[in-house]
Formats: sequence, structure tokens, C-alpha cells
Amino acid sequence: MSIADFERYPLTFGPSPVHHLSRLTEHLGGAQVWAKREDCNSGLAFGGNKTRKLEYIVPDALAQGADTLVSIGGYQSNHTRQVAAVAAHLGLKCRLVQEKWVDWDDPVNDKVGNILLSRIMGADARLDPHGFDIGIRSSWEDALREVEEAGGRPYGIPAGASEHPLGGLGFANWAYEVAEQEKELGVFFDTIVVCTVTGSTHAGMIAGFAALEDAGGRPRRVLGIDASATIDKTRDQVRRIAQHTADLIGLGRPLRDDEVTVLEGWAGDLYGIPVESTVEAIRLSGRLEGMIIDPVYEGKSMAGLVDLVTTGEIAADSTVLYAHLGGQPALNAYSGIFD
Ligand SMILES: *Cc1c(COP(=O)(O)O)cnc(C)c1O
Repeated sequence: MSIADFERYPLTFGPSPVHHLSRLTEHLGGAQVWAKREDCNSGLAFGGNKTRKLEYIVPDALAQGADTLVSIGGYQSNHTRQVAAVAAHLGLKCRLVQEKWVDWDDPVNDKVGNILLSRIMGADARLDPHGFDIGIRSSWEDALREVEEAGGRPYGIPAGASEHPLGGLGFANWAYEVAEQEKELGVFFDTIVVCTVTGSTHAGMIAGFAALEDAGGRPRRVLGIDASATIDKTRDQVRRIAQHTADLIGLGRPLRDDEVTVLEGWAGDLYGIPVESTVEAIRLSGRLEGMIIDPVYEGKSMAGLVDLVTTGEIAADSTVLYAHLGGQPALNAYSGIFD
């Protein structure tokens, strides 16, 4: 098997754009920094990394004759918003469990941003008091059962699409896409920086780049920046999904420890709560590049990139690719930070 053997239902515009962040690079004074933009990869409700994962999951949902996509996330989940958009696009129903993953004291936290968009797109988005967890949730299993009892044909997509058996394929394919874009642009990204929470984005990249390296490609580092603040769970989940995805695409060997790197230090104490470095990173990429990032995910991975480049941990002669995974609609639920 290889990645090409899996069916991909097109939901994106094609390869996502890659561009140099010249003012950020100059400001940091070290490695060359580029971005690959999953925040503008699709016309479906602003897209993002989950849309890319869903391209490999939708064929299975359609094959099973599902009429309702059932998924889960926090109130401001980007993932559930993307599932709602894909359901609308396919003419399916959508049932969303929106748990209180973040205790963020903003009166419109459960009304604006992602959840607002999901409701506009016709999803049945219901609030649930449970807290943050990246694994399989009973609330989600309950929702699946409810849809079934009401005579529907539910198709379950777990949080972040990560615990789905095909959840890593979208970003395994991202690695191949990067390799093609490198040829066109005449650059080589020796370091990839990516935010990791439910894990299948980072895990898919690990599998894809490992396969490229085994096929004779130059080695590179894929650095996951934890934004979950539950680092051991996240490391385990990334490793497990990376190996599973590697097996699916025919890597044919165990991943080495040095291929699975999840760095901590920028998540703060809690998922979804920005810390000073998060807010600084948001202001920095906004001010220098007009590139908008969010306080839950990308602000934290950008804070990691800033430190790793500034300290020389990513060397000055490196060329870094920052995976921008989307997520800007959540900013609306955090307006108080920028009062
Ligand atoms: C979901 C998400 C992530 C994390 O991706 P995982 O695959 O869950 O690790 C990062 N950034 C944004 C904007 C997201 O929506």
C-alpha cells in the first residue's frame, strides 16, 4: 500500500500556498521562516487542517451510506466547524457535541466564532458541560446512539478526526505535497514546525516524511509544539497514530524515537488558555506579516517557533516551514485579550 491507494474526496482548492515570511525572518535574525497555509486551503467555511483530514474520511462515510456526520470538540472547536461545512457541502445532516473544554470567561464564548458558523451551516450544535480530553468521549458515543435511535444513519468522526483509522492520511499526503512544492520553489525545508493537540496532523506528517526519506529524500525534523498541556497523553497519541498511519502507507518499519518529537513549553497550564508568549506571537505575526493566528493553537506553535529560532535551537542556516493550520474564527471568542 501507499498513500496513492487511498481514495481522496476533494474538499480543498488543491495544494495549499507556501510563502516566505521575510519580515518575521528578518526580525528573528536566524533561520529562514516560511509558511504553508492550511488557513486558506478551502472554500468551505475558511477551511483548516481538519478539512484536509476529512478528504480521506468522507469516501468511507459515503460508502457506508451515512446521512448524518456526528462529531465533537470544544465550544470553539475549529474541527466541528469544518465537519459542519463538509456536511453542508455533501447534503448531509450534522450533529455536534460542543463540550466546555475551555473555562474562558467571555460572555459570548459559546455564541460567536466557530460555533456561530456551524449553526449558520445548519448543524445541530449542542453544548455539553464536560471538560477537555483528546480521547474518545462518552458524550460523542451518546450522540451517535441518539441519531441512530431517531432513525438516522450516523457516521462518527472523533475529536480532531484523530482517533479515526484514516485520520492521519491527510497530513501524510501533505508531506508529499511539500516535496513537490520544494521542487517548484527550489528550496528544502529541513525543519517543519506544527501545532499538536489531538495528534493526527503531526502524526500524519511524521509518517509521510518518513516514507519520503526512506525513498531517498533528505532527512528533516518535524517538530510538534504541544498546545494541549497534557504532554504525555499527546506524545503517546502522536506516536500511536504516526505508526498506524506509517503502516497504512506501507512504511514497513517501526518509527524511530527521533522521528517523534513533541516539544513542550508554550502551552501554558491549560488547553485553550493563551499565555503571554501566545499573545506576543499573535501580535508579532499580525504586525510583521499580516498573518492572523489564534490563541488556542497557532499562537502557541508560533511562540515555540519564535523561541527555537531566536535561541538557535533551529540553526541560523536552517529553512523552516511553519504549518499554519487555520483556526482564526476562535479569535472572536477571545476579544478581551486585545481590549
Ligand atoms: C485542530 C487544530 C490543531 C491541532 O491539530 P491536531 O491534529 O488536533 O493535533 C492545530 N491548529 C488548529 C487551528 C486546529 O484547528
